[in-house]
Amino acid sequence: MKKKIIITGGLGYIGTELCKIYSGYSWNDQITIIDNRFISERVSQIRNWNMNFVQGDILDKELIYTHCHDADIVHHLAGITDVPRVKSESNHEHEKKIKKVAEEGTQNILDAINDKCKIIMPSSHVVYEGIEKVKNDIREDEKTSPVLSYSKSKDFNEKQLKASGKNYIILRLGSVYGYSTDTARIDIMTNFFSKMASQNGTLRLFAGGIQVKSLVPLIDVARCFKFMEERKDLSSDTFNLTKDTVTVKEVAEICKKHNPKVNLRETNDEIPNMGFSLSNKKILKTGFKFLYALDESIKEMILKWSKQDLIKDLEHIRDGGNEFIDERGKISNHELTEPINLIGLIDSKKGTIRANHYHPQQEQKCLFTKGQIIEIFQDILNPNSPKITQVVNEGQLSIIKPNVAHTMIFTKDTTFLNLVRGERDHKNYGISHTIRHWFVDEAERDLLMSSYKFECRSCGNIKLKRVVSLGYQPLANNLLNKKDDKCELYPLEVNYCENCHNCQLSVAVDPKKMFSNNLYTSSTSASFREHFIVAAKSYVKELKLKPKKSYIIDIGSNDGVALKPFKELGFNNFLGIEPAKNLAKLANKNKIKTFNGFLDMKNIKNIKKNADLILASNVFAHSDNLKEMATCMIQLLSKKGTIIIEVQYLLNTLKDLTFDNIYHEHYNYWSLTSLTNFFKQFKVKIFKVEKIATHGGSIRIYIKKDKNTKIEKSVNKILKEEENFGIKNFKTYQDFGKKVYRIRENVIKNLKKLKKNKETIIGYGAPAKATTSLNFFGISKEIDYIVEDNNLKHNKFVPGVKIPIYSKDKIAKKKPFVLVLAWNFFNEIKEKNKNLAKNFLNIKDLEKE
Ligand SMILES: [Zn+2]
Repeated sequence: MKKKIIITGGLGYIGTELCKIYSGYSWNDQITIIDNRFISERVSQIRNWNMNFVQGDILDKELIYTHCHDADIVHHLAGITDVPRVKSESNHEHEKKIKKVAEEGTQNILDAINDKCKIIMPSSHVVYEGIEKVKNDIREDEKTSPVLSYSKSKDFNEKQLKASGKNYIILRLGSVYGYSTDTARIDIMTNFFSKMASQNGTLRLFAGGIQVKSLVPLIDVARCFKFMEERKDLSSDTFNLTKDTVTVKEVAEICKKHNPKVNLRETNDEIPNMGFSLSNKKILKTGFKFLYALDESIKEMILKWSKQDLIKDLEHIRDGGNEFIDERGKISNHELTEPINLIGLIDSKKGTIRANHYHPQQEQKCLFTKGQIIEIFQDILNPNSPKITQVVNEGQLSIIKPNVAHTMIFTKDTTFLNLVRGERDHKNYGISHTIRHWFVDEAERDLLMSSYKFECRSCGNIKLKRVVSLGYQPLANNLLNKKDDKCELYPLEVNYCENCHNCQLSVAVDPKKMFSNNLYTSSTSASFREHFIVAAKSYVKELKLKPKKSYIIDIGSNDGVALKPFKELGFNNFLGIEPAKNLAKLANKNKIKTFNGFLDMKNIKNIKKNADLILASNVFAHSDNLKEMATCMIQLLSKKGTIIIEVQYLLNTLKDLTFDNIYHEHYNYWSLTSLTNFFKQFKVKIFKVEKIATHGGSIRIYIKKDKNTKIEKSVNKILKEEENFGIKNFKTYQDFGKKVYRIRENVIKNLKKLKKNKETIIGYGAPAKATTSLNFFGISKEIDYIVEDNNLKHNKFVPGVKIPIYSKDKIAKKKPFVLVLAWNFFNEIKEKNKNLAKNFLNIKDLEKE
């Protein structure tokens, strides 16, 4: 049978939740909401739910009669809720109003309804606030003792209902708590504490927080109103509706558990009583069940209100949560940060571009149901902010903050839902919703589509997470011959694989563009030469290599720097493999036999096998086709032979914040953990590890194919160290990213200060890392020129920032201020050039606050 149901105060805290419950019944019952406020979004929502909304006051007798005289059910929730909690807050006028609304308003309803109507009204535990001693489990028939105007009017209401002769239900609510999507009662203790906790605030515990309270979850309160409406057998009765009995201090401690940053402070402030609790035996006996819990509700409120929870990134990608999987398939949910009123269904063909715009006010939310995109975005409020790319896969929700320019490049045929709040139409590029901002063209699309690396090079995982974005950068070693030579820019960004803990760049630039004419000659550096001399001697001894018999291969042999010491020790059976033509030529000229080319399946036929030792120093980071290279190395190795790989150590990069070790030639960033995961698939063993000093911290790993190889202690020791450091936690990588951005701010600030006082600042050294950091910092005019020891680099320009590179002869008589860019050779450079400069400063020192 169709029922006529009235909800007074339906826009309030409890009313909002009750309306949601009734939205499922409005197809059958006639539901009317009466409230003296008008909240347009809520009202339109209520009307969309096929419920009536009447803006009106319960003091309006005629209006109440019109709507209530033929009602079957009245949920009477209207009333003034901002009430004083202690005597000192009372004010006469306000108290009179509370009393009038409560008493007259309720009487108007009682007068209007007929005898068959059931009126369900909330009362409050506060009707017992006059109790002086702590009293627990107060039952419904215990004598009330109201003190303040609110409890007095609630007590009066109870008596009105009982005397009316109408069918009534009184629900004496404990202190209601819980998150509501629309309205929140922050003045309620539990909610107030949760809100303070979400802001890392201080919770003041009046009288030490000893007061006992009865609490009840909001949704369960709304559910109970519906329950009482349905239960015809329950009539003209009073029920306590409470769930938890706790002290104020206990509530505060739950808050602290969920946010340890909260402070608890005990004070001597006035409390109206020592506390009490209501018994819920009677309500439980009716069969009503509570579904919500205090701990979970507090956690939810803290999380949803917390500042930390607000997304600070310009762009944010989320996987669906709360997954439900069974034989039929999968359900996943995305909770949105704000209501939406329009959904656009957008299909896009592979290779096309959309957007190139920003939204001044709206957050952009797109849910991808099929396909994949590369998204490019840039903060337009900060003019020098880097351009960032990110992959969004199907099933993910992408959220972009207002005033962030964005463009989508569709790498597959793609479908997504555009979830919009506010008005929007296809041609609306006006001021209100969408503003055109061209910042990605077709050439850039082609570059990204051909170079982007969607999956983990080591394990194939496609859900990679962002560690840091250093913006679009030129290829670090490709110095410009002329200042205005064109150079391609690629994103320089590190991603992390949660599956195998490998880190790699978001793009893989064609190696031919980087390695075919390498200007970096290892032998220029005395410390490198020394490093390889010491290494060769120790390998000969440890691996029992024989000058006449042993065959040694060095991959990425550069100018022969690692093989030369072997030659000097009397070895003549060795081969370098080097892709850079100029370097291979140089090595061959110096009688270090060198094959010019990459180590791949095609070239391996031309390389002699059965090596006793294969060296790969600083090349393992440089390989896009890692698996192919590793396969070739293992094929070239003799049964008992050893592979020794030296690679920059990710742990040092993360710890020492040496982000300038990141450049396009370095495709991969390794830890022992990720190397172990990588080599597992080739059935070879890492049996020894050493930490070495090159490149600001590297590791050297020893590998054998021989199954009987004993694994030395060093392997497990370093694996354990890495785990303790957090190598398997994404947060470790995120923190690194944040610190790198702080460094950028510091350097810009410090260099400006320095420049104010110095006339000439010159840089020393133009290694790849200098290109990376100068471009990331956006430093160009601040440095007059750079001097370099390597004469191949002279009279060229650092790409991107276009700073010229000269020989030391350029330095004039007037001694300049020298900023050492090749910071890992700081002492060597300073020692050698004492008389050239006034002062030497390591660029690393500018990174500090
Ligand atoms: Zn992986």
